[in-house]
Amino acid sequence: MTPTMSDEQRELQQLAHDFASAELRPATAEWDAARALPDEIFAALAGSGFLGMLVPEEYGGLGFDLPTYLHVLEEIAWGDAAVALSVAIHCGPVVEILLRHGSEEQKRRWLPALASGETLAAFALSEPDAGSDPSSVSTVAERDGGGWRLDGEKRWVTNGVRAGVVLTFARTSEDGLGAFLVPTDSEGYRPGAREKTMGLRASETVRVRLDGVHVGADALVGEADAGLRYALEALDLGRIGIAIQAVGIGRAALEHAARYALEREQFGTPIGRFGALQAKLADSAHRVAGGRALAHEAAHAWAATRNGTLRTGAAGVTARAAMAKLAASEAASFAADEAVQIFGGYGYMRHYPVERLMRDAKGAEIYEGTSEIMRRVIAGEILRDSGDARS
Ligand SMILES: Cc1cc2nc3c(=O)[nH]c(=O)nc-3n(C[C@H](O)[C@H](O)[C@H](O)COP(=O)(O)OP(=O)(O)OC[C@H]3O[C@@H](n4cnc5c(N)ncnc54)[C@H](O)[C@@H]3O)c2cc1C
Repeated sequence: MTPTMSDEQRELQQLAHDFASAELRPATAEWDAARALPDEIFAALAGSGFLGMLVPEEYGGLGFDLPTYLHVLEEIAWGDAAVALSVAIHCGPVVEILLRHGSEEQKRRWLPALASGETLAAFALSEPDAGSDPSSVSTVAERDGGGWRLDGEKRWVTNGVRAGVVLTFARTSEDGLGAFLVPTDSEGYRPGAREKTMGLRASETVRVRLDGVHVGADALVGEADAGLRYALEALDLGRIGIAIQAVGIGRAALEHAARYALEREQFGTPIGRFGALQAKLADSAHRVAGGRALAHEAAHAWAATRNGTLRTGAAGVTARAAMAKLAASEAASFAADEAVQIFGGYGYMRHYPVERLMRDAKGAEIYEGTSEIMRRVIAGEILRDSGDARS
């Protein structure tokens, strides 16, 4: 909870908390073991409107502002981190790029379906040899008749099978990428088997081969060679979403640890009375709260970019989003690691939830830009403020 919440935000947060308590928490261990999410959970998310949080009302969504979205997404992540990842990818960068750069026809075709949950979205930028450096994408898009032909391989596509549309980045010229709306029922769209991930096991992470996928001219979003810029701008939003996902994971770990510290007795007293464990709770709590505060601050910087200000520099949205993701993901890993320690031998057992949270938290330090890349982005913006023309 943040002190500046409106009554409406409080109500929506409570609604999301009730949803997470009823629909996610009871099944999260089972989904982790099964390495899959059931169809019903996507139907429930769609029914609640949570798949259309950032889609404006005129296109059938809830039209939330970013802080409201973050309040809801934190609760979903508190309930199940894999579901939150899927929701964050669906709601965040794809919708943002469509809204900012799509034609009215593209918006009318895709946004209502994304908002209702009829179509799930995925975002395919990474490749086997293009991760931290997306400018090295080698998937190629060539003009083909009136449309485009895409060939290449994408890695780690979250929602890559369940999605109905994948925003796919492909090389259109020597130094330009295009962003293409690729329907997953296109001939030549070939998702591989799900990756066996360390954490977020219920999340659908797949490789995708694009073997001569033909899409129409209307699949290209915006300018043919501006896709990398669109992706990097939208990743600011994506990173704020991942920051709040990490806050939800860290908060869940802290709550489990505090409850256990009161229940478990050693030396004739609850272990929560020991100063060494209180320090772990306090250090986890301030780090998670710091991550949340930075995520909301980044959301305000994001709103300022809408007015054409505050994109660059250490106070701009790119640095703030990177700070939020860096702080929150490392806080989540810290809190989950300390929670395992507080649970002692039980914490190391699959039966208890904290080992899963430890595995889940690690992912947030990697996707949508690793912690090393976040540090590089932040330092670059600080140096830019100090007059470094290369940043
Ligand atoms: C669960 C999961 C889901 C994902 N979902 C998606 C998705 O939906 N869509 C998508 O496009 N991608 C997705 N990804 C991919 C993810 O964004 C990349 O894995 C990430 O950006 C890192 O790229 P890489 O794995 O190629 O690592 P590399 O870029 O090879 O990096 C390897 C190591 O080198 C470090 N490094 C690299 N460059 C520098 C540098 N300049 N300075 C300092 N250190 C550096 C990195 O920090 C890292 O520690 C997902 C990944 C995971 C694990």
